[in-house]
Amino acid sequence: MIKKFIICISCLFIFSIFALANENTFTFDLGNYKMSSLIITKMEHQKILFRYEDLVKLQKYLEQENSNSSAINVFFLDTGKDKILFDAGTDADILVERLKEINVNPKDVNYICITHMHFDHIGGLVKNGKKVFPNATVFVSQEELKANPNTILSAFYGNNIKTFKQNETIIDNIKTIPAFGHTKGHSMFFISSKDKSVLVWGDMMHAVVQFDNFNIYMTYDADPDKVIALRKNILEKYSQNNYYIAGAHLVYPGLGTIEKTKTGYKFVPVK
Ligand SMILES: [Zn+2]
Repeated sequence: MIKKFIICISCLFIFSIFALANENTFTFDLGNYKMSSLIITKMEHQKILFRYEDLVKLQKYLEQENSNSSAINVFFLDTGKDKILFDAGTDADILVERLKEINVNPKDVNYICITHMHFDHIGGLVKNGKKVFPNATVFVSQEELKANPNTILSAFYGNNIKTFKQNETIIDNIKTIPAFGHTKGHSMFFISSKDKSVLVWGDMMHAVVQFDNFNIYMTYDADPDKVIALRKNILEKYSQNNYYIAGAHLVYPGLGTIEKTKTGYKFVPVK
């Protein structure tokens, strides 16, 4: 039995976080809401999957400690009214187990927001030929669904899929933000409650090394130039405020803020 413990961190910054955490789940107060990070797996990307114009420099970047560290995280939000999942990871068994650990039954999840339709974001939606979330409406961008019409999402959730346009409020206090580049319809979700906000940014980043040099990209990025330009904007914008970032591939709990450094940016994880 994993011993749960309570962490209360008062930061030097203007925000503080109250969290219930263990090695698999991390739950914190987002204004009036409760948000949880659920770890599906810790991982390291193979170094041959990174791309950069200068291979000698790339090698040096990748020699830094933890440069290729990554993870697959799923985020869950309880607004009191709605239970919302952001992406679904690769493995339904692990996802259901993690939800159980925070006392959530998959039947009670009423919305699922999908950043994009790569398998590591929708794989957890189906198990043994059945949908895992029988009562959920699944939101995905119209561009992403159009580019990927034949996936398990359409096959199993067909009538329960709702497409969205960009910069649209899809659920109370949850707005979509376009982030095309990694895929044709890759999207982010911006959630606000009281004075707290979090950007669920999907695959804006895949590994630690990209904070130091945001021009490094991955073979998975469909349009690297778009990805790099967008990432530059997002890092700059979010380093100037205290909004949280929730990243599907940031080291667990995949949640933190961004700081500007002399060479690039730094991710400051919540603890
Ligand atoms: Zn991914």
